[in-house]
Amino acid sequence: MKEKEKKEIFDVTIIGGGTTGLFAAFYCGMRGLTTKVLEGSSFLGGKVAQFYPEKNIYDVGGLPVVSGTDLVEQMKKQAVLHDPEILLNQYVEAIQQVEGKGFEITTQQGDAHYSKTILLTTGFGTYNPVPLEHKDAKEFEETSIHYMMGDLRRFKDKHVAIYSNQRAGVDWALSLGEVAKHVYLFCTEEQFQHVVEADLEKVQQSKNIDLVYDATIGELQGERGSLNGITIISKGASSSYSVDDMLVYQGVKMIPAPFSDWQLEAEKGRLIVDQGMATSVPGIFAAGDGVQYDKKSMLIATGYSEVITALNSLAKYIDPKAPAQVYSTVEYRYKK
Ligand SMILES: Cc1cc2nc3c(=O)[nH]c(=O)nc-3n(C[C@H](O)[C@H](O)[C@H](O)COP(=O)(O)OP(=O)(O)OC[C@H]3O[C@@H](n4cnc5c(N)ncnc54)[C@H](O)[C@@H]3O)c2cc1C
Repeated sequence: MKEKEKKEIFDVTIIGGGTTGLFAAFYCGMRGLTTKVLEGSSFLGGKVAQFYPEKNIYDVGGLPVVSGTDLVEQMKKQAVLHDPEILLNQYVEAIQQVEGKGFEITTQQGDAHYSKTILLTTGFGTYNPVPLEHKDAKEFEETSIHYMMGDLRRFKDKHVAIYSNQRAGVDWALSLGEVAKHVYLFCTEEQFQHVVEADLEKVQQSKNIDLVYDATIGELQGERGSLNGITIISKGASSSYSVDDMLVYQGVKMIPAPFSDWQLEAEKGRLIVDQGMATSVPGIFAAGDGVQYDKKSMLIATGYSEVITALNSLAKYIDPKAPAQVYSTVEYRYKK
């Protein structure tokens, strides 16, 4: 652990940089609150970025259709409008109340952050992909071997291998089939798990996708982190393929957000909140998939609405004279 440093005390620290946390980063600015965002992983956008960046989303108001990637990109632009401090790879482990400072928030990386209040937007927690077990995998990870698809456009005109026995592998192959030069879908078993048959048929009919069952990786070839070939063993025969990138999906391991360690009242891993989105600890508010109440829906737009309620409550917690709500048309009346 690094030595703890004394840092600026922010009005709000948002824990979790998914869609709910990103919208909150913007809305804190609307409420005139100094803001820090701590995201445990190396990317923003939470479940949208991790699980369905290539899918179209149709139920966000004002956007008839938007891809996961484009929604997250737009949200990032909105989030930085008021210049919040956004830190990645800051997985929060401990939250402690500190006399006169509000809260001390300590991360796995050993950093300490100070904040008058906290907004929890952690969802259910963090999802870590199951890594590829191969002696040479580490050499190519983050350059040529990927565990998330991310922005589809980075695979344009490339030869891409997908190594998976899950439905996500089939989904990725169909999306990549539209942009990549060629796709090799290597199923690690004799069949895919939980696959949608109509999607599998599309894969089988695609001229741009080769499908190989019962596949095991033999050799990974390349230099300085850059993959250029792969040997696959299937049904006793070994074949070589030229590939630029490989996507691996073998499931994810969920690390639940440690709400009970933070002395917060929760039920089945989700936070209990009041109508103002306040948790059981004064000064800590919550929004998004990580909260539970009667008739709660777990949708992107629900998180936005909960953020507004939570931050209006939080603004009043810091300053009881703060207005109950604000209008962007008034706040930004001179902005073009
Ligand atoms: C396959 C799928 C399809 C979906 N389709 C739709 C749809 O069409 N429309 C729709 O509205 N919704 C859809 N949803 C639901 C939607 O994705 C969620 O409601 C939304 O992503 C919730 O956002 P969130 O920010 O609350 O949580 P998350 O996206 O889970 O973000 C939480 C963030 O907090 C971080 N975090 C967790 N713990 C810590 C910690 N201790 N320290 C620091 N950071 C931490 C995580 O790394 C993550 O980035 C879908 C969900 C799935 C899985």
